[in-house]
Amino acid sequence: EKFVYLFHEGNGNMKETLGGKGANLAEMTRIGLPVPFGFTISTQACNAFYNSGKIIPKEVEKQILEALNLLEEKMGKKLGDPNNPLLVSVRSGSVFSMPGMMDTILNLGMNDETVIGLAKLTNNPRFAYDSYRRFIQMFSNVVLEIDSYFFEQFLEEKRELKGYTSDPEMTAEDWQEVIKGYKEIVKQHKKIDFPQDPKEQLFLAIHAVFKSWNNQRAIVYRRLNKIPDHLGTAVNVQSMVFGNMGDDSGTGVAFTRNPSTGERILYGEYLMNAQGEDVVAGIRTPQPIATLKEEMPSVYQQFEDTCQLLEQHYKDMQDIEFTVERGKLFILQTRNGKRTAQAAIRIAVEMVKEGIIDKKTALMRVDSDQLNQLLHRRIDDTVDKKVLAKGLPASPGAATGMVVFSADEAEQLGNDGKKVILVSPETTPDDIHGMVAAQAILTSRGGMTSHAAVVARGMGKACICGCEAIKIDMKNKQFTVGDTIVKYGDVITVDGSTGEIMLGEIPMIDPELSEEFQLLLSWADEVRKIGVRANADTPEDAKKAFEFGASGIGLCRTEHMFMDLKRIPIVQKMILAESYSERMEALEQLLPMQQGDFEGIFEAMQGHPVTIRLLDPPLHEFLPNKEELLVEVTKLQMTDSQSDELKMKEQLLKKVRQLDEFNPMLGHRGCRLGMIYPEIYEMQVKAIFYAAAKIAEKGMKVKPEIMIPLVGHVNELKQMRQLVVDTAMTIQEETGKVTEYTIGTMIEVPRAALTADQIAEEADFFSFGTNDLTQTTFGYSRDDAEGKFLQAYIDNKVLPENPFAVLDQDGVGKLVETGVKLGRSTKASLKTGICGEHGGEKNSIDFFYRIGLDYVSCSPYRVPLARLAAAQATI
Ligand code: PEP
Ligand code: MG
Repeated sequence: EKFVYLFHEGNGNMKETLGGKGANLAEMTRIGLPVPFGFTISTQACNAFYNSGKIIPKEVEKQILEALNLLEEKMGKKLGDPNNPLLVSVRSGSVFSMPGMMDTILNLGMNDETVIGLAKLTNNPRFAYDSYRRFIQMFSNVVLEIDSYFFEQFLEEKRELKGYTSDPEMTAEDWQEVIKGYKEIVKQHKKIDFPQDPKEQLFLAIHAVFKSWNNQRAIVYRRLNKIPDHLGTAVNVQSMVFGNMGDDSGTGVAFTRNPSTGERILYGEYLMNAQGEDVVAGIRTPQPIATLKEEMPSVYQQFEDTCQLLEQHYKDMQDIEFTVERGKLFILQTRNGKRTAQAAIRIAVEMVKEGIIDKKTALMRVDSDQLNQLLHRRIDDTVDKKVLAKGLPASPGAATGMVVFSADEAEQLGNDGKKVILVSPETTPDDIHGMVAAQAILTSRGGMTSHAAVVARGMGKACICGCEAIKIDMKNKQFTVGDTIVKYGDVITVDGSTGEIMLGEIPMIDPELSEEFQLLLSWADEVRKIGVRANADTPEDAKKAFEFGASGIGLCRTEHMFMDLKRIPIVQKMILAESYSERMEALEQLLPMQQGDFEGIFEAMQGHPVTIRLLDPPLHEFLPNKEELLVEVTKLQMTDSQSDELKMKEQLLKKVRQLDEFNPMLGHRGCRLGMIYPEIYEMQVKAIFYAAAKIAEKGMKVKPEIMIPLVGHVNELKQMRQLVVDTAMTIQEETGKVTEYTIGTMIEVPRAALTADQIAEEADFFSFGTNDLTQTTFGYSRDDAEGKFLQAYIDNKVLPENPFAVLDQDGVGKLVETGVKLGRSTKASLKTGICGEHGGEKNSIDFFYRIGLDYVSCSPYRVPLARLAAAQATI
């Protein structure tokens, strides 16, 4: 079996074997880009390593040594040769990019002898010793697992002793002293001399990269990003080029387009006389790439041409690491660049216009999950705001929250439901848990490609980087900007789109869709074959839904119309009524309110279908809280045992107790309510037809679809259908306006799905309520499961995902599919849709498309996502 590939032996399609980075290096070498030569040890070798008990197998070792020989030949240098030493980098590279998660070692091959050789060859002893000490520090940290803190501490002391403020002031002799000190640190911690044999260094490094596949932060990252554990990582061994060989050398990172806005302009940053880690670590603040044009015009030109070549070849925006060694450009790596949703859309649309990709490719380029970034709120620019400080706009969106200074604090407060903003000099992969919990991230150091920026963009979180104006005092948990002190817990607002930081909470506004976004969505509408509707309960929601491109309302939950403070007491009166006349009194009060809402929704939807679900209240959601009531009654009994208030409260408590259910979700809800109290549904149907008549009078079209919830037996639907038909008839006669309408049912319990052929006799349409269907199929309470055991189930891989968020295709999905088939066997024209949460989730949408539903319905803000996901399902 082949475990080791020289760069020219591979190609870009070999990701599984070479990892993303290795495949890219091979591909770049193949198309003739200036890539420093090297070889890749395959992911299969990593798995062989784990299979043989974390030992590099003999066969792998043999192939590495062979590849090394060839590399030495090609470079005309030898590992460990004091006269002409080959130095290499050793990097991990998994199939999916895992930024900052895995370890890298540079300058491998340095030892007490090669350092002298390098000093001679480059005529730059200072650089040689600096490289050596960097190598010792990195190797000791990554391979020997000695905390970098000890080295940094030592270096800082040395610097202070010499009276320097920064590293460039260090001389070759100073670095030699540092090297001596570093070696002592190694001896102290590991009781060994720092390894001098470069081959031993190489194998130890490869060993460490393989091992890092299973370090804690890599495991967390994989879990967060749903990357399988069995893939393993490849290892790339590549000859080093140096960006710190003087003022005609440098290093940087760049995107071929702006990863934040998508604008077609080279975007990135670099540092002269530095190594790559200096840029990424954000220790020195780099220069924007545009400056390179002035500093080294010919290199810039070469760079621009290379970028063009890369985009034409990969047909996507690239994220490039480059180094200039003595005026010569080298490309270290390139990959499809991570980008904000806004940028993803603009790049996709513009690449179609530029003729690089076609529309379908463009549609596949935008991750529908990412779209919610765009649907985030932003700061209202009409209000006066005082900007406290400004940093780099690293990831768009705006957020308000309490300032915290550590990832742990962010996590703690975040879990308590507090909104926090994580403020830190910079972030590392160890801070991920805090970044997940925070609303936004603010750092004082580092550029647009620093860890914080990259990770925040991936998460769709607002982030400001490199805000040097803020002076962070971690010890006292505060930061200052001039005279202003911002303490732990103070509220600030950050705008990741502008980089601005403001004190306090600033008003924000809802987003609109950009022109490019609209265009992309119109392409989506051209190819998708499944309709997208919205769940909306109010005229405002309906308007939003229409704006976002919903082709109708798939679910109007009428009980939500009653959640309003003014209405709840009337609803309670209706529920608690002891006689028909008492109930009718409440219903008559509710009727005009309900009618008004329907008029608003019909108007907003301009003739598109509106599915109105009759009342489906798990009663406990509307009743006064039993415990609270009991406390009140007890208090009154002690203070004022004769009062009317007490009598009233006692009455109320008695009724609440009568209505109290052990399992309200399985209780007197859904159509069971209409079955027992038909006057309630009657009132709702009246309101619908009065509203329809009103709108028709204005000359507008109305298409109500009346939906009966939680049906489990065809007889329920039969009876409720009759009620709707009779009531509709009465009102239509009364108003003289005929409204076209249909009657359907929700399929939310397994029995309904299993007897869908019978139910279809009475239904014009089915709408699958996958929230309840998931609840009743699994037998998991949708209100309790998540907090109690579901998370553990997901962590322990008992379940692949939360079934309330991502449809369980094997179980719940099978019921939906069965329901559709049975329903259509009775009535070919039966219209089918889905209106549970899953209607706005891309994998579920893909499934619903495949089983032939007519439409999905989701919350208004997810409509654009659903339109795109529906298109992607068909491609
Ligand atoms: C459902 O059960 O999926 C549904 C849409 O109804 P609700 O969430 O209101 O119970
Ligand atoms: Mg339901």
